Amino acid sequence: MSSSASKIRPLIAGNWKMNGGRAGLTQLKSLLCRLEKVKTAADIMICPPYLDIGPAVEITKGSQVAIGGQDCHPEPSGAHTGDVSAVMLKKYGAKTVIVGHSERRTHHKETNKLVKAKAQAALESGLSPIICIGETLKERKGGQTLRIVGAQLRGSLPDIDKPEKVVVAYEPVWALGTGLTPTLGQVRQVHAHIRKALVRRYGPAGQKIRILYGGSVNPDNAAELLAVEHVNGALVGGASLKAADFIKIIACR
Ligand code: PEP
Repeated sequence: MSSSASKIRPLIAGNWKMNGGRAGLTQLKSLLCRLEKVKTAADIMICPPYLDIGPAVEITKGSQVAIGGQDCHPEPSGAHTGDVSAVMLKKYGAKTVIVGHSERRTHHKETNKLVKAKAQAALESGLSPIICIGETLKERKGGQTLRIVGAQLRGSLPDIDKPEKVVVAYEPVWALGTGLTPTLGQVRQVHAHIRKALVRRYGPAGQKIRILYGGSVNPDNAAELLAVEHVNGALVGGASLKAADFIKIIACR
């Protein structure tokens, strides 16, 4: 591992998806209590639904937990019913935003071009975009993983001089919420491929970009996944909903 890549501060981010509300905020308070007793070298983020962002920012004020959105519109404002912009997220205290999650790419037909525009808008608003990429099971079985991931990266990465605020999350679609995970060798191979692509795109700054692994991370498999070279943290769905599980994942770093 290069020395700059080995010095990257890990990030453990929770994606609550369409879950949260009072129960979620209670779990968030519980997470803060548990964090007082745990030593971790990681940055911690929770991405709740839009409605919970304001209350979550209040609850986590002064703590080591940052709050983020799960998506944003590329425009700052305007006639976009049901959408929320990166500028708005920033105003409400968010520090980060997930863009290009496979559920957005699949259910909302989001293209690389749109994901790139969202990532660019996030950066312009002062947010750190977590750009998700990953192959389907059919693509994995067809030996297409590196090609697909490479194409998604090329199409979704923003054009910027200082890319340190960008985060990439490798999330194999077939591993999301299924309990399935790639082998450690497969994770190593894809993350090394992503690192090379980031350096090709951004030069030495590409060594500093965090590459998260996401897909069925849980308290039992987190330590070994987080120990893989070029895995600089995790994006966690289901296991981020319960403070008792999420804290065990955080404690691995
Ligand atoms: C996700 O969908 O981003 C995710 C990581 O989900 P899970 O951890 O539940 O597989």
